[in-house]
Amino acid sequence: MIQCDVCIIGAGPAGLIAGIFAAEQGAKVIICETNTVPGKKLLRTGRGRCNLTHSGSVDDFIKAYGQFGRFLRHSLYEFGPSDVRDFFQKLNLATKVEATGCVFPVTDRATDVSRVLVDRARRLNVVFWYGKRVIEVEKRPKGFWVNTENKRIECRSVIIATGGVSWPFTGSTGDGFDLASGFGHEIVEPKAALVRLITEETWPSQLQGVGIERAGLAATVKDKKIKTSGAVMFTDDGIGGPAVFDISRLLADDLASGTESIEMFIDLMPNIKDSELDKLLTEKCAASAAKELARVLSDEMLPRAIVLKLCHWIAPSTTILAGQLPKAKRKELVRLIKHLPVKITSTRPIEEATITRGGISTEQIDRKTMESKLCKGMFFAGEIINVDGPCGGYNLQIAWSTGALAGKSASK
Ligand SMILES: Cc1cc2nc3c(=O)[nH]c(=O)nc-3n(C[C@H](O)[C@H](O)[C@H](O)COP(=O)(O)OP(=O)(O)OC[C@H]3O[C@@H](n4cnc5c(N)ncnc54)[C@H](O)[C@@H]3O)c2cc1C
Repeated sequence: MIQCDVCIIGAGPAGLIAGIFAAEQGAKVIICETNTVPGKKLLRTGRGRCNLTHSGSVDDFIKAYGQFGRFLRHSLYEFGPSDVRDFFQKLNLATKVEATGCVFPVTDRATDVSRVLVDRARRLNVVFWYGKRVIEVEKRPKGFWVNTENKRIECRSVIIATGGVSWPFTGSTGDGFDLASGFGHEIVEPKAALVRLITEETWPSQLQGVGIERAGLAATVKDKKIKTSGAVMFTDDGIGGPAVFDISRLLADDLASGTESIEMFIDLMPNIKDSELDKLLTEKCAASAAKELARVLSDEMLPRAIVLKLCHWIAPSTTILAGQLPKAKRKELVRLIKHLPVKITSTRPIEEATITRGGISTEQIDRKTMESKLCKGMFFAGEIINVDGPCGGYNLQIAWSTGALAGKSASK
């Protein structure tokens, strides 16, 4: 049997930062990881560039997390977005803010983020046990036994940082949910979030691969208006892209609760009001009266594939010349461009989702320490907790903030 002060289950971003913070306080730390390498998912983040946080104040973050802001507040004030940037800077990995507000390492390499974390942990004598899947945690009079298939660790505190259940081939298979529920923790049903959406309509498949760089999305659920904006892409069974990912997170609970379908409207030109678009179309059609309407619309307005679809909808069997567009059809065109309806039936499977929504109930975790309220000495960090954020670095920030707080608290 091997002994340590803090045993961490999972070497993802939450587990790694927790290990560093615990060891900085003088704790003897062991991190157990199923995989033979750390941070398999971390290496995939930001398409391999790692969008490690976002610009903005702690209060901006609290607002962005919505219903989860209150729970995360303390951890964000302890180790917030600017602390994360300072932390990596001190490890000689400078960061940069892009026009979108997303923060990346200047090297644009997630491997560098993982490398500096592991190097820092090793310098603090954190011991890594790779290829060691934890199968059981037992409560003992003075702490815990953490059991892998062939090894046992005796520790004072345990931090469960095993992630959610999305992208399971990276190691996040939901083991932590089983380990925690053994101690009576409630698991809020895991759902897919930041994921593509499936539509009832099949026409998006005809536009597969066609995208709009800046679109608006709007839906009303239980009298609540939900809106996002950003890139939207049509897929073989629905819609994808950052704006869709963000709205998927806000619709996930309703879609999972058996709602038949949710009506959503795509604004293909969010920078222009309906009345202005109507005026613009009138002017453009008058100026190019002899041209095909589809040509006029695809000139600097919308991708041609989408324009052809719109023209087909307003006049299925004829080719309209711009000068012959009747007022009623122009109004119909404006409606379709500004409020293109789609019925969302479900998300793509959770295995494909960027994050898991759901996890250990925050009601059972002390938000000032990340310690379980049911089991003293047991802590949680990262995506395993029932908190999540939008695209743009907000989910890794959850891992950094809750991981740092759990590590610090567990070492006491
Ligand atoms: C493709 C993709 C891109 C993303 N890009 C971004 C981005 O750019 N910015 C952002 O903010 N977020 C991004 N995310 C989300 C972000 O990666 C996660 O929120 C984050 O990795 C969660 O960290 P974690 O440490 O809690 O869990 P994980 O990263 O899932 O790590 C959990 C670790 O625990 C290990 N483990 C599980 N069970 C056991 C066990 N029984 N014993 C031992 N070890 C175990 C796993 O192998 C894994 O290594 C992205 C996600 C994906 C899938």
